[in-house]
Amino acid sequence: MEGWINSYIENAENKNDDEIYYELVNKFNFLMGSYMESVFVESFGYLLANLPEEVFKSLLEKKNLYIRPGLSDGGYVLSLKVNNDIKKGERLQILTVSESDLFGEASELIGILAHELAHVFAGHIGSSREIEREADEIASSWGFNAEIKDSRGI
Ligand SMILES: [Zn+2]
Repeated sequence: MEGWINSYIENAENKNDDEIYYELVNKFNFLMGSYMESVFVESFGYLLANLPEEVFKSLLEKKNLYIRPGLSDGGYVLSLKVNNDIKKGERLQILTVSESDLFGEASELIGILAHELAHVFAGHIGSSREIEREADEIASSWGFNAEIKDSRGI
């Protein structure tokens, strides 16, 4: 798994390294240069670089995914139906992670982000016990079982 992201970048045409790798990483709006930004980029970058290749590519194609800091504890994905700026019927997905989580343990933050990305990957709408369990299972299948357990305090 390790190293695939570099070959993906090398094989891409008309793009430079940073452009592709950070296209997804940079879909957030923390204060540039802040401590929170560096923690987020490091954690989310680690998560992306360790995703299965097909999962990363699938997420990269989601042009309607935005990531922002939130106020409530934990992470969540807001899924809004938008008819104007993006294709009719597509959903705008906003993944949020709480600012307090950015000051916690790195493995917990990665677990939270992996769980939320699993919701996006699976196209989950809303929340239920079953949906939350499935997101944890998907993120674990990507190789983040330990981080998911850490984020659950298990
Ligand atoms: Zn969830």
